[in-house]
Amino acid sequence: MFEQIKLPYAYDALEPHIDALTVETHYAKHHAAYTAAFNTAAEKAGLADKTAEEILSSLDSVEDTALRTALRNNGGGYFNHNFYFGELSPNGGKAPTGAFADAVNSTFGSFDELKEQLLTAGTTQFGSGWAWLIKAADGSLKIIKTANQDSPVMTGEGTPLLTIDVWEHAYYLKYKNLRAAYIKELFEVIDWDKVSALYEK
Ligand code: MN
Repeated sequence: MFEQIKLPYAYDALEPHIDALTVETHYAKHHAAYTAAFNTAAEKAGLADKTAEEILSSLDSVEDTALRTALRNNGGGYFNHNFYFGELSPNGGKAPTGAFADAVNSTFGSFDELKEQLLTAGTTQFGSGWAWLIKAADGSLKIIKTANQDSPVMTGEGTPLLTIDVWEHAYYLKYKNLRAAYIKELFEVIDWDKVSALYEK
């Protein structure tokens, strides 16, 4: 049984950056729906005993097309949202230190430039999707984009370190069409210590 991550903060804890109604709707409606549909599809496919990562990294082995699509969309939605809600914190926004900070500086030049490039990835993702910071197999940092509920876990191109949900449901209640404004505010509630810990793992 796949379960939503338990939010380590109250719905209104990310104010004023991310408003309470958005967090509640996003978590308790959207994420809940992906989770329920993923459980149904995984059960149907006989994969309920697997981890989400195992299912998402071997979608090709599911022969039934409708079932494969259901697992891709809802399993991706399940995994991506657990990752997203887990990386946010009311105490976020503080610049990283240590080995991760060194890697950011040598790859992007500065922490600000990393955020600038994530902002560009998020704003140029056409339609719904996600912007990601991943650690590639060779240990390098890379920024990528995925459409819909696709995830780097599906392609194996790297370990997710950070994700930015750029679906309209993630920001439209407060920011309307201003996706860039939402992403800039999201940076203020990202727990960079968590990102750093994932990098060092
Ligand atoms: Mn979302």
